[in-house]
Amino acid sequence: MQNPVFIPGPTNIPDVLRRAIDLSTLDHRSPAFKEILHPALAGVKNVLKASDAEVFVFPSTGTGGWETAITNTLSSGEKVLAARHGMFSHRWIDMCHRHRLAVEVVEAPWGAGVPVERFEEILKADKSHLIKAVLVTHNETATGVRSDIAAVRRALDAAGHSALLLVDGVSSIGCMDFRMDEWAVDVAVTGSQKGFMLPVGLAIVAFSRRAIAAIEQADLPRTFFDVRDMARSYANGAYPYTPAVGLLNGLKVSAEMLMAEGLENVFARHRRIASGVRAAVAAWGLELCAAEPSLYSETVSAIRTPSGFDANTIISHAAQKYDVAFGVSLGEVAGKLFRIGHLGSLTDVMMLSGLAAAEMAMADVGIPIRLGSGVAAAQDHYRAAHADRYKVAA
Ligand SMILES: *Cc1c(COP(=O)(O)O)cnc(C)c1O
Repeated sequence: MQNPVFIPGPTNIPDVLRRAIDLSTLDHRSPAFKEILHPALAGVKNVLKASDAEVFVFPSTGTGGWETAITNTLSSGEKVLAARHGMFSHRWIDMCHRHRLAVEVVEAPWGAGVPVERFEEILKADKSHLIKAVLVTHNETATGVRSDIAAVRRALDAAGHSALLLVDGVSSIGCMDFRMDEWAVDVAVTGSQKGFMLPVGLAIVAFSRRAIAAIEQADLPRTFFDVRDMARSYANGAYPYTPAVGLLNGLKVSAEMLMAEGLENVFARHRRIASGVRAAVAAWGLELCAAEPSLYSETVSAIRTPSGFDANTIISHAAQKYDVAFGVSLGEVAGKLFRIGHLGSLTDVMMLSGLAAAEMAMADVGIPIRLGSGVAAAQDHYRAAHADRYKVAA
């Protein structure tokens, strides 16, 4: 028997999607492939609330999506603006350096969001628009922090700045509200193994009209990730190389599942489950890494442990003794916190089991919490949240 995972990706795979990806070999040059590819691309657009974007899907991971975003829109030596406030924003910045981009890095505390006011000052001061792109990690998975993409867009507009807005939505898209059109996001990046509830294996990238227009001037080397080759092949319902047909079928079905549940219901479910986790954390007397409530992620909670404990022992202990997975801490916060992933295919009841397991593991390693305290707090939250939905017949 297997427990659900509570890591912030890969997420639990619903049976429907396991069946959807389990296809016998299909000729990807046959018309049958079109019937998978085109609905998958259209489905991603729906999930992104993007009417006008072009979606490209690579056999890769979210990291390949970052590379697609920068190499197709930027040229060697060009300047980009980014904040470092967690492991994922750090790694995207590192990738930019390796591609010979000049990164203006704003250092922010791990636990803070993107410093929008500082961004606005920098953009306003950049009169000649040397900054070609602003890179934002929507949900910093290492710290459980959500940044405000709409506010970054307002900062760009307030500065009258022409830089492209490139957004890492790997751990938010399909779980938390994402409005590609409304926020005028130029490139949105995600992977298959988080909100889309599939195995790892796809980089999913959407380009706005403005981003598409930037492609021809962009001189960074790219071959595998050149979206021009993808676009040409997609027009014929094909790929420039061999596509991951099963995963693409999974993506088609996953987008259908999210739309059938209703995006707003999907977001509300993530909010409700996350609030229950936060109620548990408060009942344990512990604190989140996220500095304030407006930053709380609905997909992952990073929980600070009392000093003197190596938080990663909770993870290894939970894995060994209870066969349940939580997220380790990375980079600057390594050992200081552990993470509970609460995204994708998850119900309140699954979450309660995860909280109960976290309590056992914490008690075992000597963290002074009362067994049942967090579970009870989450139960109260879920009972109240469902009070209207399931009225007991009088
Ligand atoms: C998981 C994740 C990534 C990296 O994705 P891979 O699929 O592991 O390459 C990037 N950014 C964020 C915010 C993530 O959560």
